[in-house]
Order: sequence, then C-alpha cells, then structure tokens
Amino acid sequence: MLILGIESSCDETAASVVKDCRTILSSVVSTQIEEHKKYGGVVPEIASRRHCENILGVVRQALDEADVSLYDLDGIAVTYAPGLIGALLVGVSFAKALAMSAGKPLIPVHHIAGHIATNYLTFPDLEPPYLCLVASGGHSHIIEVLSYTEFRVAGRTHDDAAGECFDKCARAMGFPYPGGVHIDNAAKTGDRNAFRLPHPAVAGSEFDFSFSGLKTNVINLLHNAEQKGTEINRNDLAASLQGTIADILTDKTIKAAEALSYKKVTLAGGVSANTGVRAALSEACAKKGFEFYMPEKKLCGDNGAMIACQGSYNFIAGITADESLNAIATLSMEEI
Ligand code: ATP
Ligand code: MG
Ligand code: FE
Repeated sequence: MLILGIESSCDETAASVVKDCRTILSSVVSTQIEEHKKYGGVVPEIASRRHCENILGVVRQALDEADVSLYDLDGIAVTYAPGLIGALLVGVSFAKALAMSAGKPLIPVHHIAGHIATNYLTFPDLEPPYLCLVASGGHSHIIEVLSYTEFRVAGRTHDDAAGECFDKCARAMGFPYPGGVHIDNAAKTGDRNAFRLPHPAVAGSEFDFSFSGLKTNVINLLHNAEQKGTEINRNDLAASLQGTIADILTDKTIKAAEALSYKKVTLAGGVSANTGVRAALSEACAKKGFEFYMPEKKLCGDNGAMIACQGSYNFIAGITADESLNAIATLSMEEI
C-alpha cells in the first residue's frame, strides 16, 4: 500500500510517500521559518502564499524521491484540521484536485493524530492502546489512543500550549523565533535550580495543563531585572524554564497513566524534540515500569510522513472524503 501525505497546516509545506503504513520512501519538508523570523512568529497570509508557491514542487519531489508515480498510489492523505485556515486550504485544495484528477481516494487526516503516528514510523512494533502526551506549538494534550483511529482526550491545556510557552519566553529572552530549540541549547549549560518557577494549579480535570502563568512569571522576571538594571543569566533561566515545563508535562502524564491504567506511554509533537522533556518522561516511565516511546528527532516537527502514516490507518479503517472536504481551523480529536 502506497500513501502520499500532504501537510500545510502551519509554516511547513511537506509531502511524503509511505509504504505499508510504516516505511518512509520519501519525506520532503520545505520550511518557511527564515521568512517568519523577521516578524517574531508566523504571519498567516505569508504562510498561505508560500504554501501556494511551494506545494507542487514539494509533492513532485516526494513522488520522485520515492520513485513512485501518481498512478501507483493507493490514496492521497491530507491534513484538513486543525491549523491556520488559509494554510490548510492550500493543502486541502491541492490534494482534492490531485485525487480527483488521478482517480485516487482522498483521505482526511487530523494534524494531531499525525503527530501521534510518528511513533509508528519510529517503532515498527508499537500498537494501540496506549497513552500519548502530545506537546506542540498549538496543543498540549494527554490522549488515550484507543485504536489507530479512535482517540479520547484525557487532559488539555486551558490556555497556552507548551510550545507557545517555550516560544514566548524565548522571545522575551531575546532568542529568535521559534525559540524552543534555543531554550533547549541554552539550558545545556544552565543551572536548573537557579530560578524557582511556578507549577500552576488547574481547576477542573486533574490531567489538564495551564502554561500562561509560567510564561507571565518568566516575562515579569525579565522585565523586573531590566528595570533594576540587574543581569539575568539566560542559560540558567532557560534551564529552569525547561526543567519546569518538563516536570509539569511529566507529572500529569504519569498521573493520567496510573489513573487510567496504561502501562504504555508515548510522546509526540514539536516539543517532543526537547532534551529536558524527553529525559524527564523517559526516566519517570522507567521508574514506574512503563513502556515508553518517543519519535526520532527529525519526525518531531511537522512533516508529511506522519500524515501519510496516519492516512494509511485511516484508509484501512475506511475513513475517506469526497470533493466536499473542507479545511477546519479548530477541531477536537474527539470530533474526527
Ligand atoms: P500544532 O502541532 O499544535 O498545530 P505546530 O504544528 O505549529 O502546532 P509543531 O511544528 O508541531 O507545532 O511544533 C513546533 C513547536 O515545537 C514550536 O513551539 C517549537 O518551539 C517547539 N520546539 C521544537 N523544538 C523544540 C525543542 N528542542 N525544545 C522545545 N520546544 C521545541
Ligand atoms: Mg512549524
Ligand atoms: Fe504540528
């Protein structure tokens, strides 16, 4: 089975051909980071325009590198939700036209389900059910993966996502966009205990997150230091912030796994590239005797392979779409 996956939900135009659900034949990612950097974040209209310019070349390259023709494919999978609407529309329109003209099934994929699927690409034997912590630029969810295509949200953020917290604190610290990776690098030589940062309590579900208080705390700390003319060691602050985010994510995930009786835990999403988060969750799982899986680093950020992989499982489950498929900016995993 050969599935082409197309991703355009944010600032990466990506396409990939995946064979038999888990073997990556090609994976092409064209990132717009350099362009959005100037503005300190993603500018939606620029993102849409770049997707429009790049998508044909990216898809063509993915087919070429896989040595596969459009007519060899069993289906065309595309991210249709959630994300920037103008960005999603480019991928959805393109995939629809391609599927209709080649007479191939069109397969809708939820972007977060795609992130979760990255572990199938890294671990050939991983099977549901398990519990997944998805931490990315726009989401922080603890998800019960009931089957390849059924999900239940056990915990979610009430405000900012973990990636947003990394990026906004990084910006206040003077790092370029996206700041997550710069915090990660700075943290390597910093003292994790230099700053005592808050673990915010969240009213409601015991597995929910809140990161806006932590973000405000870091921004205030920098602001106050600037007013007083005192120096803040950026590496120490980065290490303290990263350690705190890693502890919050890990605590809740372990609590949820115990309460919901999961002994298999996975990590996914852009923030799964973070050294501190990877170490904290894998150590905590080892202590509890849980099986733990996390994607190889190159699959943590947005890519087409995760969409092709999840698209393959959707296709097997009979999840396809017709020409009425539309892009959706906000869509809970439970509504798919
Ligand atoms: P979503 O998946 O929620 O729609 P997105 O697709 O924009 O959002 P991803 O590409 O999945 O987000 O992840 C990007 C996020 O991951 C950014 O916030 C980025 O800073 C963060 N990130 C990437 N690498 C690291 C790292 N090493 N440490 C911390 N954060 C990181
Ligand atoms: Mg991105
Ligand atoms: Fe993403």
